[in-house]
Amino acid sequence: MFPRSFQKLIDHFSSLPSIGPKLAERLVLYLWKQDKEKLEDFGERLKSLKNNIKFCKNCFNIAENDLCSICSDKKRDRSLVCVVEEPLDIIALEKTKKFNGLYHVLGGSITAQNNKDLKISELKNRLKSGNIKEIIIATNPTTEGEATALYLARFIKPLNIKTTRLARGLPTGGDIEYADVATLTGAIDGRKEM
Ligand SMILES: [Zn+2]
Repeated sequence: MFPRSFQKLIDHFSSLPSIGPKLAERLVLYLWKQDKEKLEDFGERLKSLKNNIKFCKNCFNIAENDLCSICSDKKRDRSLVCVVEEPLDIIALEKTKKFNGLYHVLGGSITAQNNKDLKISELKNRLKSGNIKEIIIATNPTTEGEATALYLARFIKPLNIKTTRLARGLPTGGDIEYADVATLTGAIDGRKEM
C-alpha cells in the first residue's frame, strides 16, 4: 500500500492515455526522487496549462496567443490549407518541412456517436474567404479518417477549390502523428486530387 497522497497521484497518471498502473507507479516514484524545485516548476506549469494555452482562433491549433505561431507567420502561404484531426498531426507534418501553408484542426474525426465538437462549420467559414486555392485533407488513414475525408470533399469540391488527399503509403489504421518524416514527405508530394 502506498501513502494516500502517493496513491492519488498514481491514479492521476494511470488515467492518462497509454499509461497503465505499473508505469504510473514508476513515474510517481521517479518524480518523488526529483529536486523540489523541478517538481514545483512542473506543478506550476500543470496548474497554468489551461490559462496560458488556448486554441488558435483561426485554425484551432494549440496557441499561446489568439493566433498560433503558424497562422501568425507572414511567410506562410495562405492559399493552401491542410486539414488534420489533432494538433499533434501538425507537429508531425511540420517536421517534413514540405508544407508551407496553414492548417485547420478538426478536433477528431466523424464517428457515429458525436460530431458536434468538430470544427467543420469553422472550416466552411474559412472557405468562404475566397483566398483558398487548395485544401489538403490529412485525416488519419483509419475508417473514421477516410469517412471524414469523403465528407469534407463532398462540400469543398463544389466550391471549385482543389481538394487533395495525402497519398497512400501511410500505414493503414495508423495515425499521422506516428508516421515517420520520410513517409509523410512522400505522402505530401504524392497527394492526389479527390
Ligand atoms: Zn492557427
